[in-house]
Amino acid sequence: MSQALSTDVLIVGGGVAGLWLNARLRRQGFATLLLERASLGGGQSVKSQGIIHGGAKYALHGALTGASEAIADMPRRWREALAGNGEVDLAGVRLLSDAHYLWSPGSLAGNITSFFASKAVRGRVDQVKGEQLPSALQHPQFRGKVYRLAELVLDVPSLIKRLAELSADGLLAASSIEPLREHDELVGLVVDGREIRAQRIVLSAGQGNAQLLATLGLQQPAQQQRPLHMVLVKGPMLKPLYAHCLGAGPKPRVTVTTHPAGDGEWVWYLGGDLAEADGVARDEAAQIKAAQKEMADLLPWVDLTAAHWSTLRVERAEPAQSGLVRPDNAFLVDQGSLLVGWPTKLALAPDFADRVLAALDRDGIQPRSYPPLPPLPQPPLATAAWEDMR
Ligand code: FAD
Repeated sequence: MSQALSTDVLIVGGGVAGLWLNARLRRQGFATLLLERASLGGGQSVKSQGIIHGGAKYALHGALTGASEAIADMPRRWREALAGNGEVDLAGVRLLSDAHYLWSPGSLAGNITSFFASKAVRGRVDQVKGEQLPSALQHPQFRGKVYRLAELVLDVPSLIKRLAELSADGLLAASSIEPLREHDELVGLVVDGREIRAQRIVLSAGQGNAQLLATLGLQQPAQQQRPLHMVLVKGPMLKPLYAHCLGAGPKPRVTVTTHPAGDGEWVWYLGGDLAEADGVARDEAAQIKAAQKEMADLLPWVDLTAAHWSTLRVERAEPAQSGLVRPDNAFLVDQGSLLVGWPTKLALAPDFADRVLAALDRDGIQPRSYPPLPPLPQPPLATAAWEDMR
């Protein structure tokens, strides 16, 4: 059996939630170890659009919801982290866009009115015109209104890489996890046959939380999954665009983000309503056709005939909610030494870490001293879906 280890906090799952938490705990002097069974960021995180929401999208519903409130402070916290003076040091992470835009292609007065009536976005939205428009929308044929939101868009692979660096020696590739119990109390995990004891264990394994809970003999908290069928478009004709395009409903008709592929070309990553229920029901060819129709309708001046198209199916994992609605905040519950949760948004990773820190503080958990960790098998970094496109 490999050498037994001990740590303050044992984190399971190396997506943005686990990695951000790990970085914050280490900064506060806690000993940590993070277990990852596949690749860092390879669950939902590197498949996300990288938008650091400030709540604007949810404010489209017209009412100020809990989500709008909780999320409103996230852009500031991420900006500070990116500038190297926040709660974790994200210096070097690539900022793809300093703003996300809201784009109303027609005369959707109703939506815009309820949007501006919302407290969550008041004072943080400016209309842009002419040369201030995102470059992909600067065309004589463009009609409609565009608003600049105080939200950021990040290159998530570079974020995951930076957070992994901040984990230093505290990462461990793990394929089999079993509970380690003493007198019926969970005192750690047995990881690939190695005993790892910890004061607290945090499950932040996204979709993997359900299976881990089952391994621990627990049914709660229940998890829900919501599928998406995203579309990728690649080609030298693309210009960067980061925008929610408004439709008739409360959700953006399409949300476009733009990501750099390793070969220097841009990739448009299309989500929003296009990727939700109807999109999920379509097969890949039909989904590409639907996306082509949307783009021809919204951006007829962009010639996409030579573009490469593909789709990506991905599940969002969250705590179960009635009616499969999106939860309002990062979510965390604890039962003894075990804490389990989902950030519910990449943007809410700081909120997830806040909740863990508050639980440690409440329980009087303090950093202890341990022998240095031996060299451990390392999990790889995930690559983004757009790197696989030809
Ligand atoms: P994940 O990133 O899924 O990480 C969980 C990790 O746990 C994985 O690496 C997995 O391999 C590991 N794991 C699982 N089981 C085990 C196990 N048994 N042992 C060890 N490790 C295990 N949010 C935003 O804020 N902005 C956006 O623009 C945005 N866009 C999105 C677009 C899409 C298409 C999707 C699907 C989501 C988007 N989200 C967005 C939501 C966001 O991506 C997620 O909320 C966030 O990434 C979840 O992070 P996580 O760390 O909880 O989970």
